[in-house]
Amino acid sequence: NVRVRFAPSPTGPLHIGGVRTALFNYLFAKNKGGTFVLRIEDTDQKRFVEGAESYITESLDWLNIPFDEGPGKDGGFGPYRQSERKHLYKDYALQLVAQGKAYYAFDTAEALDAHRKNHEAKGKTFIYNHHNREKLDNSLTQDMAQIEARIAAGEDYVIRFKHTPFVEIKLQDLIRGTVTVPSETLDDKVLYKSDGMPTYHLANIVDDHLMEISHVIRGEEWLPSLALHVKLYEAFGWDSPQFAHLPLIMKPVGKGKLSKRDGEKLGFPVFPLAWKESAGYREDGYFPEAVINFLALLGWNPGTEQELFSLEELCSHFDLARVNKSGARFDPEKNKWFNHNYLQQKPTADLVDSFKPIVKANGFESDTTTLACIIDMIKERANFVTDLWSLSDYFFQAPTTFAAKPAKKQWKEQTPTIMNQLLVHFENADNFDSEPLEVYTKAWISDNEYGFGQVMPPLRLLMVGDMKGPHIFDIMSVLGKQEVLNRLQYGIT
Ligand code: GLU
Repeated sequence: NVRVRFAPSPTGPLHIGGVRTALFNYLFAKNKGGTFVLRIEDTDQKRFVEGAESYITESLDWLNIPFDEGPGKDGGFGPYRQSERKHLYKDYALQLVAQGKAYYAFDTAEALDAHRKNHEAKGKTFIYNHHNREKLDNSLTQDMAQIEARIAAGEDYVIRFKHTPFVEIKLQDLIRGTVTVPSETLDDKVLYKSDGMPTYHLANIVDDHLMEISHVIRGEEWLPSLALHVKLYEAFGWDSPQFAHLPLIMKPVGKGKLSKRDGEKLGFPVFPLAWKESAGYREDGYFPEAVINFLALLGWNPGTEQELFSLEELCSHFDLARVNKSGARFDPEKNKWFNHNYLQQKPTADLVDSFKPIVKANGFESDTTTLACIIDMIKERANFVTDLWSLSDYFFQAPTTFAAKPAKKQWKEQTPTIMNQLLVHFENADNFDSEPLEVYTKAWISDNEYGFGQVMPPLRLLMVGDMKGPHIFDIMSVLGKQEVLNRLQYGIT
């Protein structure tokens, strides 16, 4: 019975790594006919950000990867916010203390700081373990009467996990295989604090156990915590879930992990949805299908050349065995390519609906048929719906300035005369549909023994303002006879 969870801390916007974790959990669950759980890990009150949780659920909804169980969708394992499970954790910490697998410690922040500095001065890293456990204030004197007296006197305490020294801890990861960690390198991590809150480690393990999570799929940054987590399962006598640590997401160029600042530098937000004032993929005009598709390939590969995958295809193909160990490079240009592809597949009617308000915002209006016609002509050049405007603005407003380079090159001494003759010819045209118009124009060019180069480039320049754009007769047919005449007139006077 596969049960996986996405366990974000509501401390701000989801970054792209978080969304990828959610997606891989979702795909794994769907592939196995399992359950995708959302658990909100909000035990760190200092880092709690109002609204972050709804931002997370909104992101999942927008991406169309909703959770099966979570806040507001109880599947019998709730509540799904750790703050609402607060009362649960202390007994578990105390159980470990009673078994000698965890202990109370009363070190003040200042004392710990002094220890750390002392070690640093000697070029060593301070690890809170058996070396200094004894030296540290009372941490090993687990005399309950004494401890209770100190707590009653208002002293702050923590409960720490007690690692066994000098053992090799063997860990299994579904992506990395066997990972060995010497216990010497591990801190006796804090499990519980006197403010009545568990730490991430304790709450995470207790909840994964109680929620019957079968597979923990999360980012590589959690790999250093795996030894402690496995030891905690052992200490409680619970079966541990299977673990899979997803590869880091790397900067587009150079070395290192993708960070928020890369997003800003690229003028490209790393976040999938608007977070307060900062923009996101949705605001940038990404389709959720495109975001899903590029995220899926950040670390996973299908083993074939195929790059475009619908969500359904991903659900049926996804396999942890095809997730790489090495970091996955984030490629903003490729992301646009994905969006481009999805844009081409969209029904024109949908594109019209999204384009209409953009046209309106630019101060123009047009009927649905004309918009559909324009979109079909230009969309192959668009990555985003917003690109449609810059690709088609000349349909709505006559150019009044002309691109300097082609204007210089194409506009010759006799061009005004030719354009004037053409204007007269168009005045007499009785069919302005693209094909007959093309025949009608080409016949005129050869009858007058003009070269195409004398007529077509300046004509395009007057219609479009530049040498860009689709088939010129398609453009003129949408513009209509009167508008074409106006633009010619403007050009020659
Ligand atoms: N709350 C942790 C986070 O914010 C969860 C890590 C895990 O999946 O164990 O990423």
